[in-house]
Formats: sequence, structure tokens, C-alpha cells
Amino acid sequence: METKDLYRVLGVGKEASQEEIRRAYKKLARKYHPDANREDPKAEERFKEVQHAYEVLSNPEKRREYDEGPRTFFGSTPGSGTGGRFDANFSDLSDLFGSFGDIFGGAERQRPQTSRGEDVAVSVNLKFRDALEGVTTRISVPVEEACDQCGGTGAAPGTAPRMCPECSGRGVRSRDQGFFAFSEPCGRCGGVGVVVEKPWAGCAGNGRLRRSRQVTVKIPAGARDGMKSRVPGRGSVGRKGGPPGDLYVVTRVAEHPLFERRGDDFLVDVPVSFVEAALGAEVEVPNPKGGTVRLRLPAGTQDGKRFKVRGAGAPRARGDGEPGDLVVRVGVVVPKKLTRREREILQALAEERDEDVREELLRTASEAEL
Ligand SMILES: [Zn+2]
Ligand SMILES: [Zn+2]
Repeated sequence: METKDLYRVLGVGKEASQEEIRRAYKKLARKYHPDANREDPKAEERFKEVQHAYEVLSNPEKRREYDEGPRTFFGSTPGSGTGGRFDANFSDLSDLFGSFGDIFGGAERQRPQTSRGEDVAVSVNLKFRDALEGVTTRISVPVEEACDQCGGTGAAPGTAPRMCPECSGRGVRSRDQGFFAFSEPCGRCGGVGVVVEKPWAGCAGNGRLRRSRQVTVKIPAGARDGMKSRVPGRGSVGRKGGPPGDLYVVTRVAEHPLFERRGDDFLVDVPVSFVEAALGAEVEVPNPKGGTVRLRLPAGTQDGKRFKVRGAGAPRARGDGEPGDLVVRVGVVVPKKLTRREREILQALAEERDEDVREELLRTASEAEL
């Protein structure tokens, strides 16, 4: 199978310096390292090729041999390296191991793997007013809880898990690949370090059971739709003594037919008659908290104008600070039908005002044409 050009394997040219070869190897070894590619069986094959290419090309003597007569050199299988003839550059090696340590968390993987419980997300559906005022509610959370029959070990009553004989409880096996050793999770115990010989049927040896847990959550006043709160340690229990996951509570707030939330403010559209807009008026507007509030419109209020009712918005759900405002957007309503008398009054008003509201518009238009 050894037919590939070793320079090609490392992606370097024939004239590459030792430093270039070393750099190319580091990059590729990291990319194809089996610890980083558990899902991809081809990666290991690539990794071996890369390793082999480096073994040859990093050694000046072997490299010359290879350059001179590749065909005679071929025949050794990748990663065999058992001849012990090559003198690997050990400063390179420690460097490599150092960087793998960073990436794969080297030291950490030497310990048997317990695993953390899953995070669980639930949403709590709130009425508009409950979210505004805050509410304490109970929700049911589907989680994995420790099986009380086996005490979370997964072992049938009267038995106990024992240390994995394959890996002596380490959870990992070491494998030698030429001069490069790496570890992989133990296949016998799945990296846990212990084996359960008689699994407890009640939980299928998992040590955990799916349950519905009742959790009381306190939703702060002013909670927003989509607000996510984390409750540490209230997710599923860990496996084999691992820490529990977290619970995330996502707040869902029902939409209100009138109030649109904008940050901590509420926006409401309020119709006013054209007479109110022109003369000014005190109008009643709905309050998000219930009831109404009064708002004074000045004479000459324009359509679309916004007014603020200070403090009538949502309280700050997180932290202190002023509550939001109620923003009232005025919509001027023009009557669709007029009585004869109303028409006469308006015509009289038009004669009285004798105004041209488009005068400026038309002047700007004609000036723009010049
Ligand atoms: Zn094991
Ligand atoms: Zn159990």
C-alpha cells in the first residue's frame, strides 16, 4: 500500500527545509490525530501516513535514502518504526506532545471518565400580565434522575460494579504508533473505568431513570419573551458520579393584542379625533398593568406623534433601574361621513383659514427642477 509520495503526504516540496517539514507534520498530525477524529476512521489511516512520512523525511539519512531510491526504500509499513534505527529529534517530540496536550486536554484524559448530566431546557408559558407582575409557578421538567434501586451504579441489587480489568480502571488504553503514543478510550468499559457485570434490569444498567421532576420557578416582574434563566445543577444527574447538568428555563410570554413590547417600554396605538388633535385634549389610554391612564395631548398634535407615560412600562426584570415607559402613538382619525351641518362647518373653517398646506412642497419641487 506504500505507494504515496512522502512529500505529497506532508504537502511540501522536494526542497523543503527540515523546519518546513516539521511544521507541515505538526499541522497535519494535529488535524488527523485520532483523538480529534473519532467519527472518521479514515483519519487514522491518514494520521499513520503523515507520521510515517515525517519519520522518513525528518531524518536526514532516511530522507537521502528515500530521495535516491524510493523503490528500494518502500516495503516498510507505515508506523512500523520498530527497527529503532532512526534517531528522532526529541526536542521536536516534546514540543508536539506539548501542543497536543493543549488541544486534547492530555492530562485530563488519563482519568476515568465520569460524565456530566445533560442540560435540560424547558419553557414556561406566561400570560402577559403574569410576566409583567412576576409569578411563582411550578413546572414539570423531564430529567434523568439517579435510579434508587441500584444507587446510580447500574448494578443489580447485591452486586457492585468492579474495576475494569482491561484498563485497570484508567478508562483509557495506550497505543503505540511508532515513536508516537496516544491513548484512546477503553472499549471494554467505554472509558468509565468500571464494568457492571450484572446490570440492574430496572434501569437497564444505566443507573438513571427518566422522571418528571416538579420544579418551582420564580419569574421576575417584567420578564420578557425568550428570556433564558439558568438554574445550575437542576438538569439531569451525571453518570457514574459525574456532576449534574443545568436547567434552562425559557420564558414564553403570550402576546397582548394592544401592547407591543420594545425593550422595557410598551407601545400602544391610540386613535384620537382630528378635532382632539387640533384643539388638544385629555385622553384615556389603556394601562399595561390594567385600567387606564390619562394623557394630555397638546393642541396641534400631529398624526403619528408619540407621547410617553413615564414609568408605565415594564419593570426591569434584571437588576435595578427605572421601569420602562408606555409609549402612546397617536393616530388621527378623519371622519368618513359628515352630516350636512358638519360639512358646512368645515367649509366655513376652510374659508376662515384660507391656507395652502402644499405650498412648501410645490416650491421645493420646482426649485429641484432648476
Ligand atoms: Zn476499561
Ligand atoms: Zn438502576
